[in-house]
Amino acid sequence: MSSGHKHQKVENSDVHIEVARRFTQHNQRYSSKRRAIVSMLETSDRPLTISEILQQAKSFKGTRNEIAQSSLYRNLVVLEEVGAVQRIVSTDDNGRYELNEEILGHHHHMLCSVCGDVRDVTVPAQLEDELDDALTKLAKRLGFKLDQHRLDLIGRCKKCA
Ligand SMILES: [Zn+2]
Ligand SMILES: [Zn+2]
Repeated sequence: MSSGHKHQKVENSDVHIEVARRFTQHNQRYSSKRRAIVSMLETSDRPLTISEILQQAKSFKGTRNEIAQSSLYRNLVVLEEVGAVQRIVSTDDNGRYELNEEILGHHHHMLCSVCGDVRDVTVPAQLEDELDDALTKLAKRLGFKLDQHRLDLIGRCKKCA
């Protein structure tokens, strides 16, 4: 059994309920555009760039009309502030966004150092436990209490290999 995970994944159907709860806590309105952005991120298997979100918004059923770029920036700032969304830094200049790890569940990222593409990687539970144990011991030796870890895999994607 996996014991190391401090952040239990929120069930997918509950994503909007959880995000709505965070909006209420921050006295912010969970508008239809914000819901649409969360739905896009929820159904994606990787973090999305601004231009990918704009592209998807055009065809997304949750949005009655396109999201303007300026409005998307503002909404992403608010989504970050309430703790619904986090920004991922890759090897290029594009900001990428995904749901907060507490909502999405613990995972890692595979970054392409050529094109900047980011993929989600779920490490098998046993390996996560071994990682957690090893890193907890390492941190302890350094007088540090480990709560969580972030590890990226950096290399070249299929397209760029
Ligand atoms: Zn690549
Ligand atoms: Zn991990």
